[in-house]
Amino acid sequence: MKNPGIHHVTAISGPARRNVDFYTGVLGLRLVKKTVNFDDPGTYHLYFGDENGTPGTILTFFPWDNVAKGRVGVGETQQTLFRVPEGSIGYWAHRFVEKGIEHENVAKAFGETVLSFRDPDGMRLALVGTPGAEAEPAWTSDGIPAEHAIRGFHSVNLLLAKAAPTAAILTDVFGFTEIAREGSVIRLKAGETKNGGIVDLHEAGGFLAGRAGGGSVHHIAFRAENDAAQKEMVARLQKAHGIRTTEQKDRNYFRSVYFREPGGVLFEIATDEPGFAADEPVAELGRTLKLPSFLEPHRSRIEGVLPELA
Ligand code: ZN
Repeated sequence: MKNPGIHHVTAISGPARRNVDFYTGVLGLRLVKKTVNFDDPGTYHLYFGDENGTPGTILTFFPWDNVAKGRVGVGETQQTLFRVPEGSIGYWAHRFVEKGIEHENVAKAFGETVLSFRDPDGMRLALVGTPGAEAEPAWTSDGIPAEHAIRGFHSVNLLLAKAAPTAAILTDVFGFTEIAREGSVIRLKAGETKNGGIVDLHEAGGFLAGRAGGGSVHHIAFRAENDAAQKEMVARLQKAHGIRTTEQKDRNYFRSVYFREPGGVLFEIATDEPGFAADEPVAELGRTLKLPSFLEPHRSRIEGVLPELA
């Protein structure tokens, strides 16, 4: 399997402008695509990532002005973690204090340094100090030097009643392997993939179910190199696990199928093709509102209902 791992993570947020200010201004990610929710064109779909919008770096949001707060529970993503260079955790802790960002004391997990924090909607995030990350390319903006910049996803942590059924899907269909256990957390890794190569399964037993809302993750997308690879995964899901996916949906920048994994988390399989430069050059990613061709005739009406971002 080529480049297994997380393709993107999609979450729900409050007001769009506050969301953009946080992810570009505080965390220094690039807004790589400004479009709308194809299934609900009156709301934005905002994509943040690295310079090119590389799979494994993409965090996306459906922002709602008056969203009710979500609650993390079983069958949900508990935390979304980013990779930063190992020596940069102090820089970020200082930045969070300076900017009044809610955060915890630095902790250790699986031998790595973890700085947990929350976005303005209470979404649970963390930075993980990763040896060697300083040598990888980084998108820089707003005064965050390349040596400290976020590289992409480290992992997601899924809160589950039982870990084994979810682990079976990740190992059998998405190319992950169990590499470690710590307390009630099982760590799975996807080959040599750096960005988005880890999923942690936190087995919580009988715990309150989650409730979708502001600050909660809507789904996790895993990478398929192309349509053929996606098709193979879909067949494997059905044959070996009795799981049916949706029909393929064209998301303009990737093509997707969706299914609910046995632990209750919504999973997607997204192709690496064609990528975010499909409808605008890399140098201009995220600057103007992009619409799929079927919504282009309604552009003026859509622009009329979307809130200003800056
Ligand atoms: Zn998605």
